[in-house]
Amino acid sequence: MTNPQLDEVIERCRALIQQRFPEQEAGAAAMLLSDGTILVGTAPEAINPAVEVCHETEPYCAAHRLEQKIVASICLYRDEAGAYLVLAPCGVCQERLATHGPDVLAAVPGSDSTPVRWVPLKALMPHYWATAFDDAPLEWSSSVVTS
Ligand SMILES: [Zn+2]
Repeated sequence: MTNPQLDEVIERCRALIQQRFPEQEAGAAAMLLSDGTILVGTAPEAINPAVEVCHETEPYCAAHRLEQKIVASICLYRDEAGAYLVLAPCGVCQERLATHGPDVLAAVPGSDSTPVRWVPLKALMPHYWATAFDDAPLEWSSSVVTS
């Protein structure tokens, strides 16, 4: 995977926010699939916020429909000042991404000069619960932190 692909994932996520929500605070997600496809998505608000879903849900489900492995995922939120905040995947999204293995790249906040930093999911989940079981996915079993 090349950095231009990851840059395109970031750009497609920003573009969705700009196109769909030109005048308001809003979020969106984008994912890079193993075949090079980039999927984007966003989530509706609900009357009861308890039933809302993460922006990652739409591209996550579409990747399943397309039978493609997710290799990178980003969620961005444009605040009222117009700044794009990088939202690391929440615990639920980490759990969903875990089905695609410990090497899925997740966007996390970077520095001022590089606002997006890509880290493997295993860096966010160094003690993944499923590795306690003998039948844990092999790719996760080999990612266990031993110290
Ligand atoms: Zn989430």
